[in-house]
Amino acid sequence: MATMTFFGAAGTVTGSCHLLSSGDERYLLDCGQFQGPWEIEKLNYDPLPPVDQGISGLILSHGHLDHCGRIPVLTRNGFTGSIYCTPPTRDIARLILLDSAHVQKEEYDWKRRRLTRSGIEVASPLYTTEDAYYCLDRFDRTIRYGETIRLSQKMDLTFHASNAGHILGAAQITIDYPGENGKKRRLLFTGDIGDGGRPVVPDPDRPERPVDVLLMEATYGDREHRSYEASVREFEETILETIRKKGTVLIPSYALERTQEVLFHLKKMHEKGIMTSDVPVFLNSPLAIDITRLYHRHCSFCRKSLAGVMKRGGSPFVFPGLHLTETVEESQAIHHVPDPKIIIAGSGMMTGGRIKHHLKHHLWRDTTSLVIVGYQAQGTLGRKIVDGADTVRIFGETVAVRARIHTINGFSAHAGRRSLVEFARQADPELVILVHGEQKALSGLAAAIEKEIPRARILVPKLGDKVRI
Ligand SMILES: [Zn+2]
Repeated sequence: MATMTFFGAAGTVTGSCHLLSSGDERYLLDCGQFQGPWEIEKLNYDPLPPVDQGISGLILSHGHLDHCGRIPVLTRNGFTGSIYCTPPTRDIARLILLDSAHVQKEEYDWKRRRLTRSGIEVASPLYTTEDAYYCLDRFDRTIRYGETIRLSQKMDLTFHASNAGHILGAAQITIDYPGENGKKRRLLFTGDIGDGGRPVVPDPDRPERPVDVLLMEATYGDREHRSYEASVREFEETILETIRKKGTVLIPSYALERTQEVLFHLKKMHEKGIMTSDVPVFLNSPLAIDITRLYHRHCSFCRKSLAGVMKRGGSPFVFPGLHLTETVEESQAIHHVPDPKIIIAGSGMMTGGRIKHHLKHHLWRDTTSLVIVGYQAQGTLGRKIVDGADTVRIFGETVAVRARIHTINGFSAHAGRRSLVEFARQADPELVILVHGEQKALSGLAAAIEKEIPRARILVPKLGDKVRI
């Protein structure tokens, strides 16, 4: 008999972490960080599965922080098993975890300076840079899509990964385990799954049947995205209009996948001859620059056409007029470059990073366009701007919002409701467990799947629940 216990992304989007127990063997699927407002982030301080009871390994679906961001805590607690993931996920997780440790320390120092005097207690960082470095030793088992890995010598417990079509190297995980009376059973964990039809990563693989249990993400379980083609058109038109008005385009962007997609479309605009190198584009994020290099190193995980370009020494992300600005001095010098210009900088939700400096300089100008290509969580600076704030506070100053705000919502790396239901229909499992979604998305998807696969039992677990599979 096997069970699943949920230590994250159960009733929430973030914090993906599920424990599979089969006989004496215990494996974690992901070990991600909770992200968002403090009510959610404080869950990071709750206990993880006790490592002294024996966790043999961790299978990591992909390198987003909400899937890998508590690994340094797990290794500090004494976890010494192997971490299984694809080569791009290993390299991405390294950059993401070290960056996360650095950001946590900066935030902690800043909050401590400002809040301690008012008697407000500031939570310590979850882990240090040393903790993040230490956990990297555990990433010792890289896997390829389609390769079968035997997890246990004693038991018939194997798994293989297939393409999830979400970000570079993201995997769906299919685990074969012994059920009651030794009968073989199959669990399919989707990780985060994409919609297909994207320029950089290939379409997700179909589920490999027969599937008994489907552990599925539900981020967009209650809605569809705007069509990708329409979103790309809107993106291009916004940029061209701002260039005509001799303004600045600000693009707050997630460093992983979204930035590469934005660069890909800007290059296409050059190739079509609708944009020229006279308009400088600044990629002002050291993390995004490092991650873009990983797309070249692991080009075989990209679409075939792009992999071919990269293997021949070209790049789908580099074009005339692109400037990679890594140092603080280079970043400050951008302010003296005359308009029109385009600035891509993190963080994606404008909560920190270099984008805040650019917002301070440009948000109050009516010639600026702020192009939002990613999700803006409640409580973030990005969300306040999207919700129509007239003024915002940046570095202690009040800044008027006079820029034009454009929200392009079709660039998501997650499947919309129709694709999720179709994936479940193809898997045709007897049990569907829905995770990684807000309540509305979880119940919306549960209702849609119930209609499509009437015979399936559907569960929406809460944090700490244990389910027999
Ligand atoms: Zn993800």
